[in-house]
Amino acid sequence: MARKRKTMMKKMLSAAITLIIIGIAGILGTNQEFVNTISNREEQVNHLNEQKVEFIAQDNLLVDFIDVGQADSILIRNQDQVMLIDAGTNEAGDTVVNYLKELGITKINYLVGTHPHEDHIGGIDDVINNFDIGQIYMPKMETTTKTFEDVLEAIENKNLTVTAPNKGDKIELGQAVGTFMTDPILDKDNLNLSSLVMRLEFGNTSFLFMGDAEKENEETINWPKTDVLKVGHHGSNTSSSKKFLEQIEPEYSIIMVGKDNSYNLPKQETIDNLKSIGSEIYRTDENGTIKIISDGNHLEIEKSK
Ligand SMILES: [Zn+2]
Repeated sequence: MARKRKTMMKKMLSAAITLIIIGIAGILGTNQEFVNTISNREEQVNHLNEQKVEFIAQDNLLVDFIDVGQADSILIRNQDQVMLIDAGTNEAGDTVVNYLKELGITKINYLVGTHPHEDHIGGIDDVINNFDIGQIYMPKMETTTKTFEDVLEAIENKNLTVTAPNKGDKIELGQAVGTFMTDPILDKDNLNLSSLVMRLEFGNTSFLFMGDAEKENEETINWPKTDVLKVGHHGSNTSSSKKFLEQIEPEYSIIMVGKDNSYNLPKQETIDNLKSIGSEIYRTDENGTIKIISDGNHLEIEKSK
């Protein structure tokens, strides 16, 4: 009897131990699930943080002065809105298209061709052919070059219309507001004078995109102080009069210019004038693509070289 009871107790004990083990395993199992749940949640939080970073980036105004050699192309983004001012030469069309595609851009809300010179509208047909286009702005200035005809053909093929803006016309790019500052001067002998000039305001920060506008354009209005100046006509001394620069007082000046270009631009006179008003100069021939990020109060500059 005593032996039997012992055996029974042993059996009960082992059953109890088994139950305890199963229980522990169960708890461990639950714990493992709990741990999994926590790490999933951490992943979710991390994911949310990533989304937040992206959201903040989209909340800023991003202005990229794309290095397209002796030519202009400026990409401006805020929230989900995109504007492109000029698209480089015919040769640089692919560079501009790829630059935008790599950023995941599929639609350009505002496409601006400042004036019908090849170093500004050369790549515009490529851009039109590769992206959804909202509104196109160009001056009421025509020329007979193949480059210009290619642009018109691309516009026609996509059934797009062109708006020729007047002084004071505004566009909204996310939270930023662009204003066309001058009426283009329509002179067949000097297409630079037809340049569309836009000032963009974002919070307390501002940008002025001059295209190839010259002193004659500068003299048509009084200019408000502006943080960033895209210097007119690649730093030529036919633009950027001292009087004009003293009104703008740009903290930063961007010169879009090709290395060893045959025009010998920028001119030393322009550099000296910009330095004399204390402006910090950036150049695409020396700095590559220049990106300016505005949070509405502060500007941050990144250069690729
Ligand atoms: Zn030009």
